[in-house]
Amino acid sequence: MELQLKCPKCGSVIYSRRHSICGRCGEKLPESLMFDLITSKKVEDLIAQDKKRKEWESKFPGHATGGTGLASTE
Ligand SMILES: [Zn+2]
Repeated sequence: MELQLKCPKCGSVIYSRRHSICGRCGEKLPESLMFDLITSKKVEDLIAQDKKRKEWESKFPGHATGGTGLASTE
């Protein structure tokens, strides 16, 4: 999922999510644009966290199910 934003002043594509101003003309980007950036970043974080959690659960299924905690017989 890629979010492509453009400077409202010069139309230059904003590549960096860390900058709050246009790298081309220096126009300060509106809060609504930054909100989209922040929101998409949070969503990415949530997805990453969920992915990590699932990986962890696959390694330690006993914890994932809240089970007895008995060790694997392997
Ligand atoms: Zn610009």
